[in-house]
Amino acid sequence: MNKYWSETIKGIAPYVPGEQPRAGRLVKLNTNENPYPPSPEVLEAMKAAVTDKLRLYPDPNCSRLRETASRHYGVPAEQIFAGNGSDEILAFCFKAFFDPGDTILFPDITYNFYEVYGELFGVSYRTVPLTESFEVPIEGFFTDNDGVILANPNAPTGKTISLEDIEFLIKRNRQAVVIVDEAYVDFGGESSIGLIPKYDNLLVIRTFSKSRSLAGLRIGLALGQRNLIEALIRVRDCINCFTVDWIAQAGAIASLEDTKTFTHYIGRIAATRSRMTEHLRESGFHVIDSSANFLMMSHPVIRAKALYEALRERNIFVRFFPKPRIDNYLRVTIGTDEEMDIFYDALMDIVMATNRLLPESEQTPNPGD
Ligand SMILES: *Cc1c(COP(=O)(O)O)cnc(C)c1O
Repeated sequence: MNKYWSETIKGIAPYVPGEQPRAGRLVKLNTNENPYPPSPEVLEAMKAAVTDKLRLYPDPNCSRLRETASRHYGVPAEQIFAGNGSDEILAFCFKAFFDPGDTILFPDITYNFYEVYGELFGVSYRTVPLTESFEVPIEGFFTDNDGVILANPNAPTGKTISLEDIEFLIKRNRQAVVIVDEAYVDFGGESSIGLIPKYDNLLVIRTFSKSRSLAGLRIGLALGQRNLIEALIRVRDCINCFTVDWIAQAGAIASLEDTKTFTHYIGRIAATRSRMTEHLRESGFHVIDSSANFLMMSHPVIRAKALYEALRERNIFVRFFPKPRIDNYLRVTIGTDEEMDIFYDALMDIVMATNRLLPESEQTPNPGD
């Protein structure tokens, strides 16, 4: 804390990303990165973009990228906004659609950045509690509000909201913007993009960080009718007109064009996800059905914090959120099959070692079988 800081910055608790450990051999399943490499065509396109042209500012409107995205998503290019990762676009949304004193709604368990942006931009929020089984109760959002943000699939639960529910909410909420953050939709669930022509209060946010293996490149898109896109452009042009550099624009275009690599790795992650879910359940874990590239799990006896720490000692990094309602869960990113086997074997070791210390009545039934 420092006397020169603004009151906002003194008071804020910034978002805490998962650790980026530097140790050599480790299994990193804590930030929902994709374990597979980006398409080789992306790397080629980016190398080809390293030329004298870097002397020039990049195209602020990302025209070629938006035209490619337009063909890919079936949405006119003028209804697409490209930004430096979807977090940046979400931050722009808070300035574009909400005023200080407004009250927006999002679930009590969801992506933590929504709360952080609310604090930073002075936008009030009310959280709507998920049900016992972590479903989004859509009626909970049918109350006065100046905006709604939903992650679909939700994070860190991996649960989806049906398209019917989303549309119902958009219809009931025509006075304000409904933002649907589809960071994980490529791994499962239904996209709301098809609803854009019908509703001028729907904004869909996408990222290249998870399903396209490009977290390091920083590319996100917003899709919505022109009224919403224009507001985002205004905010951007009040902060930094050149948010997406030439190299990133070239890489993002190539990523959208290479559907084959994309589909292949998405399929692998989905297969690993179902295999792991099944194994963990057989070993007594409670695992939430996930439509994303991570699993949310808890053990009937051993606390999540203890598992998290024991895994960490073995250089296996997963995510643990010391927050109400989810502080007995681990969120584990789906890695390669090899990484998941290392994780699973370590977990079984930890469960068995802990079991030996417990009275028989409290032991886990057939750990590791
Ligand atoms: C990872 C994630 C993002 C951020 O994506 P970037 O494009 O890397 O900024 C946004 N929303 C949710 C729900 C995420 O999990």
